[in-house]
Amino acid sequence: MDQKKKAEQMAAYAYQNVPIYVKLAQEKGIEAEGLSLEQYPVVGKAQFIDSGMSALSAPYIGKYMAGELHWKRTSGSTGKFMEVYWDREDIKKSLFSLWMYRRNYYHILPTHRMCYFFPVDTQAPEQIEEEYSLGLSKEFLFNRRLEEAYQAILNYDPVWMILQPSIAMLLCELIQERGLDTPPSLRYIEFTGEYLEPWVKKRVQKIFGCQTADQYGSQEVNSIAFECPEGHLHCMQDNVYVEIEEETESKAGELCVTTLKNRAMPLVRFNLGDRGRLIREHQCPCGNSNPILELQAGRSNEWILREDGSRIHAYALMQIIHWINCETNGMILQYQICQEDYDRFLFKLVLEEDEDELIDEIMDILTERVQERLGEDTEIEAELYTRLLPEEKSGKLACFRSRLTEGVENRYEV
Ligand SMILES: [Zn+2]
Repeated sequence: MDQKKKAEQMAAYAYQNVPIYVKLAQEKGIEAEGLSLEQYPVVGKAQFIDSGMSALSAPYIGKYMAGELHWKRTSGSTGKFMEVYWDREDIKKSLFSLWMYRRNYYHILPTHRMCYFFPVDTQAPEQIEEEYSLGLSKEFLFNRRLEEAYQAILNYDPVWMILQPSIAMLLCELIQERGLDTPPSLRYIEFTGEYLEPWVKKRVQKIFGCQTADQYGSQEVNSIAFECPEGHLHCMQDNVYVEIEEETESKAGELCVTTLKNRAMPLVRFNLGDRGRLIREHQCPCGNSNPILELQAGRSNEWILREDGSRIHAYALMQIIHWINCETNGMILQYQICQEDYDRFLFKLVLEEDEDELIDEIMDILTERVQERLGEDTEIEAELYTRLLPEEKSGKLACFRSRLTEGVENRYEV
């Protein structure tokens, strides 16, 4: 059966068994089954916040009541949390192809020692050691004890690590600053959780002297796409069905996924809030014929608001940073753009070592390019940092923040 058919089966199952979808079908006046996937509405995170049991499918209510379902809390760019439930058997099935690709592409097995960071949780210990893994609390990033965490990693000597790009950059900086060694057994780093800039990948590969790959996924559906050694993000066709909504010639569309594995809390045409393109026709030398996903930097709810009520995607400003980096071979290591007011922007920058004196030149370029895009009255300030930390609440480093929209929720219309 092809993947789309499987997604349609999951949709029919969800629209018959999950209260949230049953209600949606009534509101929309659509049948639960016999539809092609495009006929089901796109749903968004906002609908699942505080949804509780209404997002669970009827056959799993018993397991939910017995506390047998696996439970995770996800944090989104809205700063709101969504609860995700999985049947434990479905998690295994869902992760099967990711493990297969890890083994085939990078020779990584579940029995190889691995390190990762987990979100700050006051209930959990700072370190969680299991049979083949060592987890470290992100608390270490905020309490200036990163070196202690890195020592624990060195002592554990992992074969591989799962890191957010911003955390990987912090570790790179620490290693360089203190002239520290890298774990002797380390041969692979998997990035996840944030958009991966090509120059971040290059830098991490250089400093850790190992292979790296990007894994694009979400707590709701697990792995969505995985990078092959040729540098292409192939969709995880066995796990999810990926669609791109509203794509045009000039604009990447919004990414929607339908789970093929999570029957306890099935997400159907779920808008992830990211943009991208799908390349279906390709002959990637890695031999994987699954569509290639090209992610666009930035999330779709990152908007610059104008005084007249119009809005411009923050990507307009992020591109300037990318442009400077292309010209200077990656001089800007980290950045965050803050909209302070309608016509005032603050660029927080972390520059490559010993390049701080170039700030005047960078300011000239920034001012010129920003005013070109947003008008001559736009004010720009820059502040230099030695590092930018991920937000404590979400554990992610946002490329763009706006004081004008802080706390405003990104509602999705149905
Ligand atoms: Zn490939």
